[in-house]
Amino acid sequence: MKTIGLLGGMSWESTDLYYQQINKMVQKKLGKLHFAKVILISVDFAEIEELQRKGLWEDAGIYLRDQAIQLEKAGADGIVLCTNTMHKVATYIEESTNIPFIHIADATAMEIMSQKITKIGLLGTAFTMEQDFYKSRLEEKGLKVITPNKASRKIVHDIIYNELCLGMISEASQKKYIHIVEELISSGAEGIILGCTEICMLIGDLKFSVPLFDTTSIHAQAAVDFVLS
Ligand code: GLU
Repeated sequence: MKTIGLLGGMSWESTDLYYQQINKMVQKKLGKLHFAKVILISVDFAEIEELQRKGLWEDAGIYLRDQAIQLEKAGADGIVLCTNTMHKVATYIEESTNIPFIHIADATAMEIMSQKITKIGLLGTAFTMEQDFYKSRLEEKGLKVITPNKASRKIVHDIIYNELCLGMISEASQKKYIHIVEELISSGAEGIILGCTEICMLIGDLKFSVPLFDTTSIHAQAAVDFVLS
């Protein structure tokens, strides 16, 4: 089995899910007392969030690049960056390490395409929904990506930072998300990407008329496929 390097802490709430899911998937696949070989670097998200807010993406890229180099030096065979948003600076990591980088949007796109879906709704941070780095990665593969309107995007974004990253799950916020998902479905979305690694905590267990694509579990599965390949 290969060793996976998790670059997490963004937030630790979702990194915790990665750690649990990767171990459960490996145990299920290999049986007995087999668990995943994991190296985890977990950052102080407040430092990253400040760089995001100030638009200092180069600094954020250098910061995460340095952590990824540490993962490689520590013996990781591949890197999983446990956040959708920070894939904005994925190239800093990819260009400075010599081990595979398992891209969250690629894994998600493959899963969506395997279900023959072409028009997909995207929920995530404002950075993920509004900037090009994530959507274009999906569109390159032939998917048509739609996002909520401006007011709804703000609601989705604020709940991520003010509640989900702090482990807070509220019924009021769940209702707001349900409404926004239903709006996307009315606009023709054939599936919904939970494109922020904490969103599954809020609506991941709910049933809608279209499938949800939980990037946390999709990415965790991609990590497991890699370590067992
Ligand atoms: N975990 C989130 C994501 O998947 C948001 C936190 C961040 O900005 O990294 O995008």
